[in-house]
Amino acid sequence: MPHIPRHSFDRAHAQSILGTYRKRRELVLKMLPQDSSRLAPLVEIGRVLGYLVAALGPVDEECLAALRLGAQAGAALFALGRSEGKALRLPVGDRVVELAHHADGSSLHGGKWNEAYTLATLTGDTASLALLAAVPIELLRRSSSRGPEYAYLMAEAERSSLLRDGREEEWLLAALRAADPDQVDDEAAEIILNMQTPTMEVWFALLDGDRAALDAALEKKLRLHARFFDTAALRSEPEGFLSGDALALMVRARLAGLSPGVTSDYAPAAIVDAGAAARAQLLLCPYCLTPIVADAVCCPGCLLDPRDDAPFEMDDRDLAAAPRKPCRACATHLLGVAIMCPSCRTRQ
Ligand SMILES: [Zn+2]
Ligand SMILES: [Zn+2]
Repeated sequence: MPHIPRHSFDRAHAQSILGTYRKRRELVLKMLPQDSSRLAPLVEIGRVLGYLVAALGPVDEECLAALRLGAQAGAALFALGRSEGKALRLPVGDRVVELAHHADGSSLHGGKWNEAYTLATLTGDTASLALLAAVPIELLRRSSSRGPEYAYLMAEAERSSLLRDGREEEWLLAALRAADPDQVDDEAAEIILNMQTPTMEVWFALLDGDRAALDAALEKKLRLHARFFDTAALRSEPEGFLSGDALALMVRARLAGLSPGVTSDYAPAAIVDAGAAARAQLLLCPYCLTPIVADAVCCPGCLLDPRDDAPFEMDDRDLAAAPRKPCRACATHLLGVAIMCPSCRTRQ
């Protein structure tokens, strides 16, 4: 079984950044009810904290909670960005926070959505994934922060995997075609060749259900990750301590019954195990079936007041497998019993 070890890094430096990030997490969580513009930095704080704790070892509850915090902050950021001026009650850091509307579109970009999708996938956070799946990718394209075309197409593929609309592979192929290293400058080409294309290869093997191809692609992906980050400039960047893309795809593989045979410090087994084992009992909006908190007065999906009708209660695995139908207005795949679309908010 191949094992890809982490490159060496400056542990004392990492330890000092960890201290800084722990303080930032507490400060930002305290400010959040007054200032929801802090959600965007909180995604990064959760991710970096999780990566630092994992690299300094061992993977513990602080690490997993930090990754979950990033996922929840990201899901809340996009829900609030589409809430049309309404305040929302959402879980952030595993407690419910009342968040005022925040309309700064510059943080609602493809990179931030992908960061949140990756964290929610690798932590098995179905509730956050449902909020992210409701976001039309067109919204990300409208942000003043632009990304490369392939990134939007990868986001479409990720969204399709959540909505189970049968278009995931089609979007992924389009992303692969758009990620052309000959059409961009050297720096962007390095990212495509070392990070993006290898991720897509793992993803294709997962969609094919081919365990041998999955292991080969994962080994390549993780070796290129090591090579990319093991340079004087990047060695001590927390960004490179884990591979979020590999972790998310490994959790998906496990849920699909394909257990990867590759191990790596960039994708610790303890994180994959926890993400694949995560289960939750969800409370769902009676109209659009978006996960809501017990005392919600405004559904983050359809924006209706859910208190007049009994919410649905469902196990997250049952929710993931429930039948779906296309929205009659925007074609987003909705749960079969939904009478409102959580994406375009049209009545069905
Ligand atoms: Zn709803
Ligand atoms: Zn719709």
